[in-house]
Amino acid sequence: MSVENFRSFPATGTGLEPPTIAIVGGGASGLITAAQLLRHRAPVRIVLVEERPRLGRGVAYDTTCDAHLLNVPAAGMSAYPDDPGHFIHWARTRRPEAHAGSFLPRRLYGEYLEWCLDHEIEEPRRRTTFTAVRGRVAAVVPGPDGVRLELADGGTLRADTVVLALGNSAGPKPLAAEPGSAVRDAWQAGALEHLPPGRPVALVGTGLTAVDVIVALDDAGFDGPIHAVSRRGLLPRPHQPVPPAVALLIASTAGEPTAATSGLTDERNEAWPRTARALVAALRAEVDRAAARGRDWRTVVDGLRPHTQALWASLPEPERARLHRHALRYWEVHRHRMAPEIAERLDALRRAGRLEITTGRVVSITARPGGGAGLTIRPRRRGAAGPVRASSPDVVIEAGAVIRCTGPTERLASVGDPLLDGLFRQGDARPGPLGLGLDVDGDGRLRDRGGRPSDSLWALGPLRRGALLETTSIPEIREQAAALARVLPGAALAAQTGSILEEAL
Ligand SMILES: Cc1cc2nc3c(=O)[nH]c(=O)nc-3n(C[C@H](O)[C@H](O)[C@H](O)COP(=O)(O)OP(=O)(O)OC[C@H]3O[C@@H](n4cnc5c(N)ncnc54)[C@H](O)[C@@H]3O)c2cc1C
Repeated sequence: MSVENFRSFPATGTGLEPPTIAIVGGGASGLITAAQLLRHRAPVRIVLVEERPRLGRGVAYDTTCDAHLLNVPAAGMSAYPDDPGHFIHWARTRRPEAHAGSFLPRRLYGEYLEWCLDHEIEEPRRRTTFTAVRGRVAAVVPGPDGVRLELADGGTLRADTVVLALGNSAGPKPLAAEPGSAVRDAWQAGALEHLPPGRPVALVGTGLTAVDVIVALDDAGFDGPIHAVSRRGLLPRPHQPVPPAVALLIASTAGEPTAATSGLTDERNEAWPRTARALVAALRAEVDRAAARGRDWRTVVDGLRPHTQALWASLPEPERARLHRHALRYWEVHRHRMAPEIAERLDALRRAGRLEITTGRVVSITARPGGGAGLTIRPRRRGAAGPVRASSPDVVIEAGAVIRCTGPTERLASVGDPLLDGLFRQGDARPGPLGLGLDVDGDGRLRDRGGRPSDSLWALGPLRRGALLETTSIPEIREQAAALARVLPGAALAAQTGSILEEAL
């Protein structure tokens, strides 16, 4: 299916038309929301606006590299929470050897998402219509006669409710780089092309984006040294190979259950830790208890999954801030793991001396006269007991190219996205708790400047960071999409009725 490209959309005006739900962003979050809305067969008109040429890809699945694997076993990647086998069944039609525990290429997952939408569209439905619009939404302006969406090319659309599914592309984290210092963005097309031969490449970041870049460089035959730098020098931990039966269990229970001895997994427990320090200590104790019973730490991390949102929400805000600042990165590398085969590949590169991980803060990136850049790295100060002494001098890495692998910023007020800036300026949105993501209520309605939940603006996926701890992976996104698909048709109808009354009075 290709995305239609048109500039204006006729207003529904009279109320005789079904209400319109516009979804901004056609990555995984937007596409799964659209597919689930179509499944509901509600009398609505769905308009999905995406600026990329293909739907369902977004940042994560818009890759042509087969070595970019999903970091969740196939059993966890269905687009439909009530049908955990959906992705595996589809994947087997393409790769008969795929099973519930396979870590499949992300490229394949993008195809799957597009297939899901096509499949829903092809089902005969009398009452739901769907249109995809290629374009960038520059402004979303709620008014008495509905919400106006202004496209960057000058076109406008009108909707009764709008779902923001802007995902990870809202903007990269800022970097202290001098102009001309050869910094490329890992997520930009062609970022790995024409690297100066025989010269080292420096990656800023050691998370999943850096892992992607390392395997893509290796696949492309790059044989120079790769330096990856981050403040804590933490690479994602590897998954253990997942037998199909365990993968299915994980998919059906959203995590392998752990014994609730620490109280962390008991939803009624009044004695939940109330500080970041106590929470980390309880988690460590749980891991130790699991180890004493011969169980791997991964069972504890996965077993906590159904409880992490509640644990996060139960902490007072200063403690959430402490947890976010000091412990979240550690949690993430254990929680968002890489496929075992990718971990083996990185180990081999490190053993061969082709990949080096440096711990420290990039204080400057300076252009070098003959091309390339020098990165000055201040080693992390952790006192005499840590791996780097307080007196360790700055380290300088000379590189032919620098690739920014820092991932998306969570602080949306600082990324300079016209759509988000407009919403903040209008007072229709405000940053979420700790300044992360957008502030939303439990249903995903945007909270305005005064904290009131909107009747017409909603968000899902990575935009809900801050309000939620876990909101970036498919298992969370599909649940959010399912919940939206249940409430949006009613909300859109109510908004449309409100607009008609407003006009009549
Ligand atoms: C490299 C990487 C690998 C990942 N791997 C996995 C994995 O294996 N398993 C897993 O569960 N999760 C994974 N994730 C997590 C990922 O966040 C989710 O799986 C999912 O892709 C998020 O989708 P999204 O639609 O919210 O965001 P995105 O993928 O960022 O998509 C947002 C879309 O919105 C569009 N857009 C943004 N602004 C506008 C605008 N103003 N107008 C029009 N269009 C706009 C963008 O073009 C983009 O296509 C990965 C993430 C990354 C970054």
